Amino acid sequence: MTKRCGYVAIVGAPNVGKSTLVNALVGTKVSIVSPKVQTTRFRVLGLVMVEETQIVLVDTPGIFHPRRRFERAMVAAAWSSALDADFICLMIDARRGYDEESKKIVAKMKDRNQKIVLILNKIDLVEKATLLSLTAEIHAEGIVSEIFMVSARQGDGLEDLRKAFAKAMPEGPWLFPDDDVSDLSLSVWAAEITREKAFMRLQEELPYALAVVSTAWEERKDGSVRIDQDIYVQRESQKGIVVGKGGEKIKSISTSAREELEKILGRSVHLFLRVSVKEDWQERKGVYTDMGLDFDA
Ligand code: GDP
Ligand code: MG
Repeated sequence: MTKRCGYVAIVGAPNVGKSTLVNALVGTKVSIVSPKVQTTRFRVLGLVMVEETQIVLVDTPGIFHPRRRFERAMVAAAWSSALDADFICLMIDARRGYDEESKKIVAKMKDRNQKIVLILNKIDLVEKATLLSLTAEIHAEGIVSEIFMVSARQGDGLEDLRKAFAKAMPEGPWLFPDDDVSDLSLSVWAAEITREKAFMRLQEELPYALAVVSTAWEERKDGSVRIDQDIYVQRESQKGIVVGKGGEKIKSISTSAREELEKILGRSVHLFLRVSVKEDWQERKGVYTDMGLDFDA
């Protein structure tokens, strides 16, 4: 059988379920998910094998109107990954409908004469009639080549999507080992898991003020692993909130991150978190380079 391999980019407004879809297709959590916007900060590749075909799924940050440097870099990463792909999927949250953010993405694709595959997600939340009118509305834009209706969270419609992606991939050698699930190093991925737990437990501006970095990864003789991570916040007052009364908040973040790391890695994890103030992390070029983001986007 001929080998095939190609890139499928998933783009869309924040929070439509892009990362949930990538994880569901890969079959494990490669990209973190939360009910908050801007959870995904950089391009994450999820790898799926379908017989002799390797599908490289490109999970991207949500596309929205950026104001700050860090936001600009995230949105730029989403666009550049999308435009490099063999296949571009626009994901829309069926309950939210064809909103302004999605319209802007479509307009930009239209300008480039770019055909897209439409993925309507969260079909578990809406009536059939809503789906049909939404489909008609977007189809009228004239750039949609195929439409899929899925529930990434519940797993509905994913088999068809997987087959369609596989069929669309060009002939060529695999770009990654066939048992890899992602391009992230384990230490970056582990930092992301902690960031997800922090996102879930913090409100307002705090999730956006923090960053997580793994600073050490030590394999122990007994088969366990020790992971040290720094959580950066921008102000002293934020540090207090992340730590919580009597250290309760940080303990809860740490426990739930450790549990998930252990589940996915299949071994014991000793996780050590340290919260520190690094006021200007969003203005440091090195932070962007580490995430594969363009500081000057
Ligand atoms: P992203 O920002 O586009 O990557 O979106 P996420 O994958 O982080 O998901 C955003 C939120 O939508 C999370 O709370 C998900 O659990 C939820 N979500 C994703 N897919 C579905 C779905 O098919 N149905 C429902 N009801 N919720 C979903
Ligand atoms: Mg995401």
